[in-house]
Amino acid sequence: MKRLENKVAIITGAGRGLGRGIALELAAEGAMVVAADMLPADDVVKEIKEAGGTAATFTVNVTKQDEVKALIAFAVETFGSLDIMVNNAGINRDGMLHKMSVENWNTVIEVDLTGTFYGTQEAIKYMREKENGRIINISSGSWLGNIGQANYAAAKAGVVGLTKTAARENARKGITCNVICPGFIETDMTLKLKEVKDGAAWDSMISRVPMGRAGKSSDVGKLVAFLASDDAGYITSEVINCGGGMIV
Ligand code: NAD
Repeated sequence: MKRLENKVAIITGAGRGLGRGIALELAAEGAMVVAADMLPADDVVKEIKEAGGTAATFTVNVTKQDEVKALIAFAVETFGSLDIMVNNAGINRDGMLHKMSVENWNTVIEVDLTGTFYGTQEAIKYMREKENGRIINISSGSWLGNIGQANYAAAKAGVVGLTKTAARENARKGITCNVICPGFIETDMTLKLKEVKDGAAWDSMISRVPMGRAGKSSDVGKLVAFLASDDAGYITSEVINCGGGMIV
């Protein structure tokens, strides 16, 4: 018996990067997966189906509350339930605080924090009815503060406060809510650094990882699968790093 057999999971930002890795790991554990993204997520769904799993894609902009409501309804209509909500969609618009435009501030807060609020709130409304569920929100080690990331750090710290509050409000409703803080994971978001200063920016990040390598999306996916499983039933309101020992 796989750990997530008969469970239905939504993963936002599942078209590529971490979200894609999370979708593949949850599907490998038997979950029925809704791969939700603004961009096409057909490839990940195809890969899951080819491996014998169950998945569907849904186009969503997490900054639109009505679209997030429709996403939850789609999961329930298509697979009969919603057991696991992974709010992973996120962006960064880095720059020093004293030069940061209001637009870059607002854009990151809207996607990374407000998008996570919509996903968490709508999933919890459904999960409270059935008194069972798992919320797993993707923050970042940067939530503690990181040079060039005032907007991103503020949004990701907001995700921690939001999730810990959701955990406490819903603990007696059988819902666990936890935060994962990936460290430095190889995805399109971080590969941009290979183009900065002839790759020196990438090398500098790797030098800060005690394990000496960037993480893989599957490293984070396996942690999500554990938190989503019955094995993690007594774990809630936690902030768990997945960064090879890296401290921001
Ligand atoms: P990525 O840019 O490779 O992928 C992000 C995905 O989210 C894309 O498929 C994109 O289309 C989708 N997305 C963006 N805005 C969206 C919106 N408004 N609605 C729906 N989908 C949207 O990024 P990634 O590295 O895979 O990051 C995933 C998450 O992990 C983000 O929340 C990010 O902040 C976090 N994170 C990443 C790292 C890392 O090292 N890569 C480290 C810490 C935290």
